[in-house]
Amino acid sequence: MGKVQDVRIAKRTGFCYGVREAVDKAKEAADAGRVTHTLGQVVHNEGVVASLHARGVQPIKALDEAHQGSTVVIRAHGVTPMVRRDAAQRGLDVIDGTCSWVISEQRELQKLVEDGYTIVLLGTPNHPEVVGLLGFAPDAIVVDDEDDWDRIPRRKRMALITQSTQPPWKFERLAARMVNLAHELKIVNTVCPVTIRRQEDTVATAREVGFMVVVGGRSSANTKELTRLCEIVGTPVLQIERAADLTDATAFGDAALVGITGGTSTPIEDLQLVAERILEIAGTPEARARARQSALEALGAAATPAGRTSSLPRVAGVAAAAAG
Ligand code: SF4
Repeated sequence: MGKVQDVRIAKRTGFCYGVREAVDKAKEAADAGRVTHTLGQVVHNEGVVASLHARGVQPIKALDEAHQGSTVVIRAHGVTPMVRRDAAQRGLDVIDGTCSWVISEQRELQKLVEDGYTIVLLGTPNHPEVVGLLGFAPDAIVVDDEDDWDRIPRRKRMALITQSTQPPWKFERLAARMVNLAHELKIVNTVCPVTIRRQEDTVATAREVGFMVVVGGRSSANTKELTRLCEIVGTPVLQIERAADLTDATAFGDAALVGITGGTSTPIEDLQLVAERILEIAGTPEARARARQSALEALGAAATPAGRTSSLPRVAGVAAAAAG
């Protein structure tokens, strides 16, 4: 028999503002009747991609797949200056969905290049954001995990900058390491505050519950970091991509209260579906009977007070709907 009595969704989850803006821009362009593409998947989430597809938004891998005059939305991760030039030359109508935080990262990098620093970029090689950033600093040394850091040379003037979603502890540790490698070290902290807040709220939720479910892309670095943080807190945790991945009622052990969080590309309504699914498969008879209502209440509680956690207009009314 199921033991889960209730669920809790971590606050400040759902799309980050950068992803939300890019998704909204793609929707708006398609709804305005324009032939709309996104350069790459605007977000690695099947449900979102399917809903964009239903509106007529087609992802393309390269610009040569877009017909002249069509609209191309640049996703939140940004692109290299070369890609922008190429799009203009092809006569494409570019809508820039690059996150404002990423734009400021790109500007900082450009300045470091102009100032002659040897640049170390903490990031995941081949991640689209890192690829875009390298367009501004082609000679930057990209490093990721700690066993990679021995590659960093000793130089007189060095600068450290980071991909937005890298964990703050990793950035701090690398900065400490680099102090001994340079005479002058410039540190530009570009860890995105959204990432930090999400991690804080995930830890807070993990401390309150008996089990955590983390929802996000399998290869998403910021999602994996949330899972790692739950482990550090000592709360048993399961990372999944979607509600349908939850099939084992025994996975939650003896937990009466289960917490849910998600990566920056996971829409908050996915967290609601996961909440409902947990209660359906592992809830007590009472919890199962009111699974949908409890999931809605959990969503309503997570979406308040800031209301910035989702692009869903209906979320503002969820708490009232759940209470009614
Ligand atoms: S994680 Fe931060 S920097 Fe990256 S897209 Fe989202 S809001 Fe922008």
